[in-house]
Amino acid sequence: MVDRSQNALLGLDRAELAALVESEGEPAYRAHQLLEAVYRQRVESVEQISTLPQQLRLKLGEKGFSMGLPRIEKRFVSQDGTVRYLIEFADCQSVETVWMPEGDGGEAGDGTQAGDLASSSAEAGPSRNWDRATICISSQVGCAVDCQFCLTALLGVKRNLSAGEIVGQVCAVLKDQRVSPPQDRINLVFMGMGEPFLNYENFMKAVRLLVAEVGVAESRMTVSTAGIVPRIHELGQEPIRPKLAISLNAPNDTLRTQLMPLNRKWNLQSLMAAAREFPLRNRERITFEYVLLSGVNDAIGSAEEVVELVRGMRAKVNLIALNPGPGISFSTPEQERVAAFQQVLIRAGIPAFVRRPRGRDIYAACGQLKRTVEIATAPGP
Ligand code: SAH
Repeated sequence: MVDRSQNALLGLDRAELAALVESEGEPAYRAHQLLEAVYRQRVESVEQISTLPQQLRLKLGEKGFSMGLPRIEKRFVSQDGTVRYLIEFADCQSVETVWMPEGDGGEAGDGTQAGDLASSSAEAGPSRNWDRATICISSQVGCAVDCQFCLTALLGVKRNLSAGEIVGQVCAVLKDQRVSPPQDRINLVFMGMGEPFLNYENFMKAVRLLVAEVGVAESRMTVSTAGIVPRIHELGQEPIRPKLAISLNAPNDTLRTQLMPLNRKWNLQSLMAAAREFPLRNRERITFEYVLLSGVNDAIGSAEEVVELVRGMRAKVNLIALNPGPGISFSTPEQERVAAFQQVLIRAGIPAFVRRPRGRDIYAACGQLKRTVEIATAPGP
């Protein structure tokens, strides 16, 4: 099979497009036109790049260049406005990407700070009921980390996504939703399928493209890791980087190793040391995510252990009540128990939020991304 992704323009940065243009004997300004077409106009085929002369479009097509915009295979629309996209790449592998419109000024639900703006949807026009939206992006097809409560783990890992495939998810969703940053307030979270830090180079190239070419500020991006400690150190040294979230999920090594086998390799001591050393920018905090599993890690005593772990750090904790799924043997704690856990953290001076589940009815919530297609499909927008 011809690997169409090899000649995809999406994924190339400014320097690579400049080199391509030069090797084709074209004037340098064509590189800028290509960047605009790929990342801003999100054109679907080379023939449609209206800023290029017809002859050049034909030539690029004949040479096998493609835009590389991935195909939206399916959309599932939740009652709460969340859309789960099944996005397919050139080799027919697919991942999930989630669109979460926000309009209530409530907790962001995305690993970022709780919403701070009152709703001003009237300004945005009649069809829009959100001030900002968050796109949750996948970094791998499947995942290798094997967290016991996560549906994606059941897939195993199929392959890494290229930088173009990571950015392509964002481009495809922006196009489908007819929005563009920075005019529209878009947050990105690398919290979909896969472990971004096991695909570090491609993930970081995608970040740089998203900042430079798609127009999303780095302060609007958050990457979550299950705890690949060496890459936490590396991220801290990046000149351009998203904010950091760490999936803590357990208050001690015994429990964490049961729930997240990677804790054998990078235990809590090394993880928390990396977190403490992480160089934070002005007003930045590290987020710790903590999935609450009934009767497993949701006791008051566990909350007190978390307080000891996090004490003194510029951090906040996002609590996530388990989103259930087939093949997952844990259950979701009662709301009162979640609230009691949160109170222990808050009383100790640690900002703690309960992440509002988004799109549970369509298997779009945290830990539910498994390319589930066998549920009712609502027509897309
Ligand atoms: N692999 C990275 C990126 C995925 S983020 C990471 O683990 O951080 C997905 C978040 O959802 C993680 O914080 C994870 O702990 C959480 N999660 C996984 N399964 C879940 C489930 N069934 N219910 C609620 N949250 C879950």
